[in-house]
Amino acid sequence: MNFNKNFSKLAESYLFAEVARRASAFAFTHPDKKLLNLGIGDVTQPLAPEAVKAVRAAAEEMSVSKTFKGYGPYEGYAFLREAISGYYSSLGVGISPHEIFVSDGAKSDLGNILDIFSVDNTVLIPDPVYPVYADTNVMAGRKIIFADATPQNGFLPMPDDGIKADIIYICSPNNPTGAAYSKEQLAKWVEYANGKGAIILYDAAYEAFVSDDSLARSIFQVEGARTCAIEICSLSKTAGFTGMRCGYTVICGELEREGVSANKLWLRRQSAKFNGTPYIVQRGAAAVFSKEGQRQIKETLGYYKENAKTISGALDEAGIFYTGGRNSPYIWLRCPREYDSWSFFDFLLNEAQVVGTPGAGFGKNGEGFFRLTAFGSAEDTREAALRLKNLF
Ligand code: PLP
Repeated sequence: MNFNKNFSKLAESYLFAEVARRASAFAFTHPDKKLLNLGIGDVTQPLAPEAVKAVRAAAEEMSVSKTFKGYGPYEGYAFLREAISGYYSSLGVGISPHEIFVSDGAKSDLGNILDIFSVDNTVLIPDPVYPVYADTNVMAGRKIIFADATPQNGFLPMPDDGIKADIIYICSPNNPTGAAYSKEQLAKWVEYANGKGAIILYDAAYEAFVSDDSLARSIFQVEGARTCAIEICSLSKTAGFTGMRCGYTVICGELEREGVSANKLWLRRQSAKFNGTPYIVQRGAAAVFSKEGQRQIKETLGYYKENAKTISGALDEAGIFYTGGRNSPYIWLRCPREYDSWSFFDFLLNEAQVVGTPGAGFGKNGEGFFRLTAFGSAEDTREAALRLKNLF
């Protein structure tokens, strides 16, 4: 018996544990000081009332034998896939319900989708980015190359014809930089992928935060994406579903390589390894896509966006360089006074009792940067912004 040796190649995942350790050590030695957490990557506002109503009604259905539901379809119930298809129509994109697969969240799909690809493929991953892309490929033993996201390219790396990659990750709006691709920029990636026969894994987990029309909400808003892209999305940040667990993956009928359909492979994979998202959760998710559900989630998104504005305003006043915050819940700032990411973390904790996330935890290009998030309470965010302003 041998364990998977690739696990020994994984970087130690200590980022959030170390943040928590340093914050609680400070709280222990300074019990009189109030810590404000702008490091949080989880939502804090409750579910939309429409979703809660639907969840309650679904729970009632489960209590009656006539309406009780056992195993559901592997790809998700038709009522939810149709609702998601309708959502895509509202973005000006035609996606058939057969091209949509419901899951228990984007993280699972991002890891699981790798089952349909050969381990010989080379993957291209932006740096910095959500660490799951690199970790899941390290576990599988794939070769990884990184695309540098830096202030020079606006944290939005563009394709390089000299680089040969088979699987390309794009996260837009990006976690942690908040940078989001325009449709024109994505068109260049689509052209590159179609030209090379590569596949783009497009993580749209934060698409609902996009308000500028020139920026993409879905890669399928770009012509040619149906033959080269897989889109993975989630209700986690859009609708407060981090604890409910519901996401979806879109694989169009035209996505084939050597006559093999990616949609068919994924259905085969899901039917072998996945027994569906709970019926109750899918009912809650479908309610999010209703007219009233959309109105309600926009209110919550507006609350977070207001927080982002509060933080950005403080950074503007302090003259600190940052990206994000406008079409994203993340604000990515350059550590002032040439601090590295972790020294700035300590400085902010000690001098202002504000907790953020050191950028170095998201990749080598994150060194010297720092992530703040808009997911806190409005009150704490206003207080933290004030402390930041007073500090610089
Ligand atoms: N993709 C990105 C870029 C994320 O930042 C996150 C969560 O923080 C996820 C995916 C995971 O989403 P889910 O809760 O749907 O698993």
